[in-house]
Amino acid sequence: MPGDFDGTTSDSASHSTTRNASADHGGDVGGTVADAGFDWTRFDGVLFDLDGVITPTAEIHERAWGELFADYDYTEADYLAYIDGKPRYDGVRSFLSSRDVVLAEGSPDDPPGTDTVCAMGNRKNEIFNEILERDGIAPYPGSQTTLDLLEAAGIPAAIVSSSKNARTVLHASGLEDRFDVVVDGVVAVDEGVIGKPEPDMYLLGAERLGTDPARTVVVEDAVSGVAAGAAGGFALVIGVDRGAGADTLRSHGADLVVDDLAELLAERSSS
Ligand SMILES: [Mg+2]
Repeated sequence: MPGDFDGTTSDSASHSTTRNASADHGGDVGGTVADAGFDWTRFDGVLFDLDGVITPTAEIHERAWGELFADYDYTEADYLAYIDGKPRYDGVRSFLSSRDVVLAEGSPDDPPGTDTVCAMGNRKNEIFNEILERDGIAPYPGSQTTLDLLEAAGIPAAIVSSSKNARTVLHASGLEDRFDVVVDGVVAVDEGVIGKPEPDMYLLGAERLGTDPARTVVVEDAVSGVAAGAAGGFALVIGVDRGAGADTLRSHGADLVVDDLAELLAERSSS
């Protein structure tokens, strides 16, 4: 069983080198990258965030916002200034106010449309789903390869995502069958589980995967997510820096930070 491997065989010890980038947070937390790549077999399971870790979902969101606001000379600068990181309706309201447009708030039950803030937010979600269905979404290649490696090693993997669109994104990526467990925004509501940065969603992921958190890895790109992993007492929290910043991810609980999971796969020669 891969999970029984303790990582202390003389073979792995004699050929391992600690990667400089991970040395500054100590090599005692499992953040050692050997020449032959990161040794995932030291762990019993892996919990992945979805958006920004497995798929570049933000690109689809940005395209959907662009289509929603196509009549307003919308640019990427608007996305960063008024929308990025906000709940959907707040993003609508904030962008519209930048154009001196004030709409009635409406209700989350409003059908997708343009007459209220909620209707526009619901339309944005509809466009997001249309784009996914039409174009699909390719996973990050390094993440795809990591999943292949885990599957070959018999190490179970779960998705732990705050998004209520997680199932749709997984389906569009072709990865729906690759995860043993999915804990998403829908499950969180159904089960009454508190979201990140509390560790509860990740702990539920480990519970459903049947793995001890102390032998399970969390992989996250968001500050709230690495904080959740750190609070949950997981074996290792890997931060994937898609823009949050390596120092920020480390200071919130990441044991190891990479720009892409491909870094953990590559053959590394120190000679
Ligand atoms: Mg994310």
